[in-house]
Amino acid sequence: MRGPPQTAFRRVRPDAQTPACAQPSSCDVAIIGGGLIGLSIGWRLARRGLDVALFERGTVGQGASLAATGMLAAAAELEPGGETHVALALESQRLWPLFARELEGDGGGSVDYRADGVLLVALGREEVDRLRMRYDLQQRCGLAAQWLNAAQCRALEPGLKPSVIAGIFCPADHQVDPPRVMAALRQAFLAQGGSLMEQCEAQPDLASGRVIGVATQRGTCSARIVVLAEGAWTHHMGLDIPVRPLKGQSLALRPTAPALSRMVWTEQIHLAPKSDGTLIVGATMEECGFDDHVTAGGLYALLEAARRALPGVEDMPLEAVWSGFRPTSIDDAPIFGETGVAGLLVATGHHRNGYLLAPVTAAAIEQCVVDGRITGPAADFGPARFNELMGAHA
Ligand SMILES: Cc1cc2nc3c(=O)[nH]c(=O)nc-3n(C[C@H](O)[C@H](O)[C@H](O)COP(=O)(O)OP(=O)(O)OC[C@H]3O[C@@H](n4cnc5c(N)ncnc54)[C@H](O)[C@@H]3O)c2cc1C
Repeated sequence: MRGPPQTAFRRVRPDAQTPACAQPSSCDVAIIGGGLIGLSIGWRLARRGLDVALFERGTVGQGASLAATGMLAAAAELEPGGETHVALALESQRLWPLFARELEGDGGGSVDYRADGVLLVALGREEVDRLRMRYDLQQRCGLAAQWLNAAQCRALEPGLKPSVIAGIFCPADHQVDPPRVMAALRQAFLAQGGSLMEQCEAQPDLASGRVIGVATQRGTCSARIVVLAEGAWTHHMGLDIPVRPLKGQSLALRPTAPALSRMVWTEQIHLAPKSDGTLIVGATMEECGFDDHVTAGGLYALLEAARRALPGVEDMPLEAVWSGFRPTSIDDAPIFGETGVAGLLVATGHHRNGYLLAPVTAAAIEQCVVDGRITGPAADFGPARFNELMGAHA
């Protein structure tokens, strides 16, 4: 197993050396948090010609973003209650191919965008009814989904256990590879002239009821706009953003030959084959604060559920295990837009769908910065929807 014993990330970023970036004394937009969301926003804004400085207290991606599987699954992951953000998810799915091409074109390298779809399977009689309900919900929401019988499932994925009873094929749910996306974003952001400060914790600097920049251990950096993109850690005095950590544990196997040609989803786990030959098994959902231990129980649950779908996992070498914290809001929907403090924007709460929603989030914040407002399906996800819960701003 690579890396430190407990949370061995399956890949080290290829360009982990940080160029020594001196902290600028001013910029147009300062972003706090160098995860997928902060970097996506930073890259898009730098591409628009804005002077952007991004502050990450560790190294980019060290939060949830390097822990993710990279499913872009608007249909497969739809749960009852999620109907409110289907339009947002579909818009982001639509944006992904161009987002990936532009990212690669900006010198970021391949993000391993794979348009193979997701196969959801029911492995026992009792799971078929629930899968049928999921299919009905997908149909009501106008999502691309096709009901399959057992033979059709096994024709798509011959390695699956013969007890597979039925399935749904979601042809528009694609995937990317998170370590590659994060490396590409970092590279593209720098190539577009962005300033990246790693190992640099930051706080918004407020005066007279508006944001005037950020404060760090290296000094202050004045900015017209500050974006809070601190994932599960987006908590500030006087600003009540209802987001919490939802822990996920995952692991990577390295089959000797490709075991699946597309992502497979069951009620307990998802299996995602990556182009580097690894097979990702994810992910637990645990409410336990910021406890980042990889546990025997978590790994047991993943492996047992994986074996139930794909018996061949028993012989596959285990390559890495890890955990991460999804930034989850009280309605499971993302939170992005104006905070109520002049100049201070937020982008967090992406829960299980940060990769799916990164393009639409970055586009919405870009619109907010450039035009002063957000339109389209992204308009309804501002923190103002939690007004009754949020306290007064400092
Ligand atoms: C196991 C797992 C599997 C997942 N699978 C998928 C998937 O298949 N598809 C999908 O779409 N999504 C998936 N997700 C969700 C996705 O990973 C997240 O929604 C997304 O990464 C959130 O990105 P973020 O930038 O908001 O947060 P993070 O990646 O957590 O980034 C926040 C960053 O802010 C930094 N920070 C915090 N405070 C400060 C400060 N004061 N100053 C400077 N920096 C600070 C942190 O160090 C961190 O790097 C998964 C998540 C997990 C945990």
